[in-house]
Amino acid sequence: MSATDLIHRCILKRGQMARSALGPTLGLSSRSVKVAVDTLLERGDIAIAGYKASTGGRRSQILGAGLGPDARVAMGMIFRQDEIKILLLSSAGEVLVEEAIKGMPASWDELFCGRVCERVLHFRDKHVGSHMNLCGMGISSVLAFQAMVLPDAKWGDQLVSRLSSQLSVPVYRELLVRCVTLAEYLFSTNNKEPEMAYLSVMDHVEMGAVMGGRLLCSTEATRSSALGHFSIVPDGEACYCGGRGCLESYVSNPRVLDQVRSALDAGQDSSLKNIPRESLTMYDVMAQFVAGDALATEQMHRVVTRLIPALRAIQLLLSPRLIVLGGYLRHGGQPLIDLIQESFSADLPVQAMAARIRLGAPTHRQQEIGAAALALAYDLCSVS
Ligand SMILES: [Zn+2]
Repeated sequence: MSATDLIHRCILKRGQMARSALGPTLGLSSRSVKVAVDTLLERGDIAIAGYKASTGGRRSQILGAGLGPDARVAMGMIFRQDEIKILLLSSAGEVLVEEAIKGMPASWDELFCGRVCERVLHFRDKHVGSHMNLCGMGISSVLAFQAMVLPDAKWGDQLVSRLSSQLSVPVYRELLVRCVTLAEYLFSTNNKEPEMAYLSVMDHVEMGAVMGGRLLCSTEATRSSALGHFSIVPDGEACYCGGRGCLESYVSNPRVLDQVRSALDAGQDSSLKNIPRESLTMYDVMAQFVAGDALATEQMHRVVTRLIPALRAIQLLLSPRLIVLGGYLRHGGQPLIDLIQESFSADLPVQAMAARIRLGAPTHRQQEIGAAALALAYDLCSVS
């Protein structure tokens, strides 16, 4: 990490810091501190918040997070079944601070909605707000707030409007798959590809896309998961959506695990047999697939066969240069990329160029980062 990033992170984390303490705290030379602080001040990422009481010599500056029009930090929130994650993200995609709200209720009510608002306000005051007061600048010009995926539309709307009015900043609510797509696009360490699609396979099959460097617009929840109901087997199995032969019925997490369990029950040999059936997860299956286990390999071949028509449709409709695989697929390693790339290229008409395939980031981090990224992107106008 560069001295500039180290110092920026340190100041954001602590709230404020004496300039003279930066060198000793971070183990940096006074020359590097000077260059980095000057850069950060010029960019507006930090600001002079005050001065330390004089102890004889020159008074040391106290630095706080800058909230000038060019400073870019965004807050992201992600709602999961068991927790709400809040984090502060720099424009470089670095998570500066994060916090979790535990103890999610079975259903949302007025009380819980209020509790979430309080925690968000507290988070902001602790990590950003104090600098704002010290610097005397408004928050709304620099902080575009987060993206939300809420379990319940009614409380989602209420939380968005309450947060928006209490924080006096715009609050955006977004689909998780779009958040992750954007994070993969903005902050991936691989080459940035402005024509990309993101395909996530977990309990549902979802898709997001960036075209011409812009997140493809679709704010309706049903649209992003519609791909799961793309019929790949005419007159195939009946699906809960009312259709037949839907992709989701063949490749979803629960479906693949069911098949693995049945094969193990039928006595098929596999390293997976040592794991208790009820605690078996797709992470186990993917790990064994990468290790070359016969049963896991057979299952993944089956999954890939079903995925190819969907990938083909994505390629022919959107012509992405890159397809990023998410959900459990992101744990498939090079064997999965090879398997998909080979059948995918072979299956396309000659005039269509097959996208490069890569795996998504291996952690949940992209979801959280994506939420904040989306806020930044709204703020930076790269999302329409
Ligand atoms: Zn369906």
